[in-house]
Amino acid sequence: MTVPARPSARCRTLFLELSRYLDGDLAPARRRTVERHIEACACCATMAARLRKTVAACRAEGKRRPPRDVMSRAAERIRVLLAREGRRRSTSGPARR
Ligand SMILES: [Zn+2]
Repeated sequence: MTVPARPSARCRTLFLELSRYLDGDLAPARRRTVERHIEACACCATMAARLRKTVAACRAEGKRRPPRDVMSRAAERIRVLLAREGRRRSTSGPARR
């Protein structure tokens, strides 16, 4: 199988649908078209595999990560604790910095 140096117009169209395909958002007929192309096209197969991995990573990350305001509050709390810890260390023992 040969990999084209540049993706064809058909590939570019497919790229646009790839994320929807991976989300299961495409109509069954469209889905089959995309599937058939991916099976035949190494370029798009690589793209699909990469995108699938990225999507999976984002989803896993999304589930693990609390909302943004919780994150910023947590980050602020950690900064305060670290600052406090730093002060405690510098008063109770010799400073190493
Ligand atoms: Zn292609």
